[in-house]
Amino acid sequence: MIKTRFAPSPTGVLHVGGARTALFCWLFSKKMGGKFVLRIEDTDLERSTPESVQAILDGMAWLGLDPDEGPYYQTKRFERYREVIEQLLEQGHAYYCQCSKQRLEELRESQMAAKQKPRYDGCCRDLGLKPDAGKPMVVRFRNPGEGIVSFDDHVKGEISVSNAELDDLIIERSDGSPTYNLSVVVDDMDMGITHVLRGDDHVNNTPRQINILRALGAPVPEYAHVPMILGDDGKRLSKRHGAVGVMEYFDAGYLPQAMLNYLVRLGWSYGDQEIFTRQEMTDYFSLDALNKSPSSFNSEKLNWINQQYLMSLPLDEIVTLVMQRLDRLEIDYDRSIDLAPIVDLYRQRVVTINELVDSIDYCFRDFESYDEKAAARALKLPALEPLQRAQVLFTELESWDAVSIHAVIQQITKELDVGMGKVGQPLRVAVTGGSFSPPIDQTLELLGRQRSIARVARAIDYVTTIK
Ligand code: GLU
Repeated sequence: MIKTRFAPSPTGVLHVGGARTALFCWLFSKKMGGKFVLRIEDTDLERSTPESVQAILDGMAWLGLDPDEGPYYQTKRFERYREVIEQLLEQGHAYYCQCSKQRLEELRESQMAAKQKPRYDGCCRDLGLKPDAGKPMVVRFRNPGEGIVSFDDHVKGEISVSNAELDDLIIERSDGSPTYNLSVVVDDMDMGITHVLRGDDHVNNTPRQINILRALGAPVPEYAHVPMILGDDGKRLSKRHGAVGVMEYFDAGYLPQAMLNYLVRLGWSYGDQEIFTRQEMTDYFSLDALNKSPSSFNSEKLNWINQQYLMSLPLDEIVTLVMQRLDRLEIDYDRSIDLAPIVDLYRQRVVTINELVDSIDYCFRDFESYDEKAAARALKLPALEPLQRAQVLFTELESWDAVSIHAVIQQITKELDVGMGKVGQPLRVAVTGGSFSPPIDQTLELLGRQRSIARVARAIDYVTTIK
């Protein structure tokens, strides 16, 4: 069975690059009818935090990248790593090394001075050292002395490295903790990982990992090392470029569908298609269509994709998201209000859920000031009479519903012998603060009588003072 894994180190939030790796792993496993494993690589006790683990889990849950297995935690598997290290020692694939930091430092310096690649010289390789309680010792993997390691990477093609280039890497530190390359190998082996998809910053580790896997008699997985993500300026994506944590996009009001769609296109393509449902991504995904060159993060494109989803998802889904956002922002609103018509109008015109909420905020709260242009156009002297008439007639109106309100507005246009715009537009600016809203009668119904009348009164004051 095909098995992929996403193996983040919990030293920060789930960033865009990590989320993309997780998505590729998830997609590939789904496409192949396999399994997707989540493994938390928390062996770096100083830098790993529970908050970061939670942030990773939250990010994956938001994107709907649920693992079929895990999360596994490496810190819970120390005994198993010890067991494998012991096995490697017994079989002669590993040995104890007592070289001091100072010796290794001097070695390094002399190699650098001689313009050689710094590497361990194998000083303790054949000493047959045994662990000694009094002496700090590390365990090194006995890398094969000759031959080459090669693998056919799904993105980079064939990669071959001569064993002579690889030195005997440390697999257990002197404090007894396993190193990254050892724990990854043991886990990939024990968890039956068949495909390793990860960032290409790990490509240099792969030949070493393959050698350890071979020493353990374990099958070697297939690899796909995906190129990094660059910022708009061509430099590696980082905080400098703005939000890099996926949950920052949740906070900013992006839709998970849009984020996933955006991520999948960062390094993968399928013809010219830009918008993919999750099912389409899964159906069309293939490792061999992963891009070979780095992709650039482009906020404009993310915005465009988000807009596409805002416009095309079922209205009730967007309404639910708006309601959740209102709750999150602790905006008090009348729950009997039907938000659907207003959300439907504004979703065409905004980029994010947050902007949507901002746009309809006038329904729930008094706005601070009018949109300048809108007021300059509509709240002028000719608006005074229509507004004053509306104030009176709205107060007298028997039933506060769109049909009755519409009738009142028509009555005013007749009485004053003006067009619809001369009444509707001042009213719109008066009650919404801006110059677009759903049909004004519906907007007024939505707002409620009291709020509407109070805002009309405020607009009358405004027109009177600027006069
Ligand atoms: N824990 C490693 C990281 O976060 C990934 C290891 C791997 O995928 O092999 O960079």
